[in-house]
Amino acid sequence: MSDNKNTGRGFNGKGYYIALILCAAAIGISGYLYYRNQTAKDSLQTTAPVTAGSNVPRKDDVAVIATRPATPSTETTAPSTETTAPATTEPIKTGLPLEGNTVAAYAMDALSYNETTRDWRVHNGIDIAAEAGTEVCAAADGVVYTTYEDESMGTTVVIRHQDGYTTKYSSLDADLAVSAGDEVSLGQAIGCIGETALMESALGPHLHFSVTCNDVPMDPAEFLELG
Ligand SMILES: [Zn+2]
Repeated sequence: MSDNKNTGRGFNGKGYYIALILCAAAIGISGYLYYRNQTAKDSLQTTAPVTAGSNVPRKDDVAVIATRPATPSTETTAPSTETTAPATTEPIKTGLPLEGNTVAAYAMDALSYNETTRDWRVHNGIDIAAEAGTEVCAAADGVVYTTYEDESMGTTVVIRHQDGYTTKYSSLDADLAVSAGDEVSLGQAIGCIGETALMESALGPHLHFSVTCNDVPMDPAEFLELG
């Protein structure tokens, strides 16, 4: 009887300890698994915001870079068209072809006496007296249309200008400073005073200066008043 009780108590004592060890192992394993699970969650939480946060600002940067150049380019092209527009509408600038006394006036509406031909006739320009060799200048910016020797008016230069104006310079010296096709500017020398106009030889050395607007004769004084 006593052996049975001993073996029974011994078995019960060992089983108690085994159960304790198993419980301790179970707690340890579950604790380890819980720890691993928590660290995995933490790693996911920390990596997710980093990737999401880094992508968003990059998209914004690209969007800002793409939209910024569009607005300045339209602003810069608009003023360029505004600056070119007034250049074409500038009024013509004129100036005297030379300094001197006007010895014969413009007379297309009334006859004037010509001392050379000794008769009355119209006069399509003004005659400005000056010493032979005095420089004659373009009365406005333009292009030399032609130069020629006129039987009655002598060596002549024709310059075409903006707005349909044409200026003609006659009784010049045969040695001209320009030829057809030359671009000339206001005040640029085109030749010198001569005595080549046989029809006005009685006036001595002078410039016969005439102007047309769209091929219609006009008073050179009015052309020069344009400024
Ligand atoms: Zn004349």
